[in-house]
Amino acid sequence: EHVAVEYGKGPQAHRAVDGVSLALATGEIGALIGPSGCGKSSLLRAIAGLQAIAQGQISSGGQIISTPADITAPEVRGVGMVFQDYALFPHMSIARNVGFGLAHLPRPARQERIAEVLQLVGMADLAGRMPHELSGGQQQRVALARALARKPSVLLLDEPFSSLDAAMREKLAQEVRSILKAAGSTALVVTHDQHEAFAMADRIGVMQAGRLEQWDSPYQLYHQPATRFVAEFVGDGVLLPVQLQAAGATGEAGAAGALLQTPLGELTLSPQQAAGHAPGQALSLLLRADELVLDAASPLQATVSQVQFRGGWQLCSLQLACGQSVLLQTSSLRPLQVGQSVQIAA
Ligand code: ADP
Ligand code: MG
Repeated sequence: EHVAVEYGKGPQAHRAVDGVSLALATGEIGALIGPSGCGKSSLLRAIAGLQAIAQGQISSGGQIISTPADITAPEVRGVGMVFQDYALFPHMSIARNVGFGLAHLPRPARQERIAEVLQLVGMADLAGRMPHELSGGQQQRVALARALARKPSVLLLDEPFSSLDAAMREKLAQEVRSILKAAGSTALVVTHDQHEAFAMADRIGVMQAGRLEQWDSPYQLYHQPATRFVAEFVGDGVLLPVQLQAAGATGEAGAAGALLQTPLGELTLSPQQAAGHAPGQALSLLLRADELVLDAASPLQATVSQVQFRGGWQLCSLQLACGQSVLLQTSSLRPLQVGQSVQIAA
């Protein structure tokens, strides 16, 4: 609640996290995304108890674990952490790596727990191997098993897949979600990759310059961005300049709904959508690349100015007659060419 993290003291202090509030329910997976340097790792370290906070408080299971005056030590607060660089002990077998934090258990219980978590991450067959005998993705699964072995109340993962290649990252993100759900873990993962966040998380937070712009379900984040920053950061789309016009003769936008004048033509808004906006007001309309379609029957013409191949689909920049650019996502089975004229509908 209202957490701030500062580096340095006095007037030189730099506020890396600025008044962030969020909550994760037991068993939920959260993700934090945002540009480099926006404070994701600082917030994660504060939650881990590795970083003092300058303002606010952090609690877990109803217990306050951080205030500006006092922090519960990391080993006492029951958090597990997984970092980007596996951090396995190179001279220890996989089984010994996973058992490292379990010295408090009697040997049979320890062996049982090691076997259980290695099974969970699909690495049971490789328990006797050494870390250098595993691929990057396998090593990261072992690191996850090691963190899960102690049954942390919250698992914190900081860019856990960023040293892996793109194809491996997406596959592992899906897998890790299944593993965490099977273990019933509560987890918060930091990533700079929104696709990874979409693949893993029940809730996603978008940070910018130390502030949490939105903390919401992936669906809401994509379709109901709370701020202009979130709208532009998440997904592919453009913000179009539009003007609001009253629909009725009354001149009141709220009463009968309203019309939006957009570069794509007129759009009718419901009274709820129009509420709070005055006729004549200049607004921005978020148009997602997947909200436009090719439509040979449409009078709306555009020229293809750029095509990005994305595998099964292509992301195309189109220029409207008025000069405005929009984005179109379409199947790559029908390739579009730069300079081609197309008809589109929203
Ligand atoms: P992110 O993980 O989103 O990339 P960080 O939390 O690492 O962001 O950093 C947020 C800001 O705090 C950055 O401006 C960074 O330079 C600064 N910062 C991070 N760690 C320290 C530190 N130990 N000392 C001083 N400044 C730091
Ligand atoms: Mg970071």
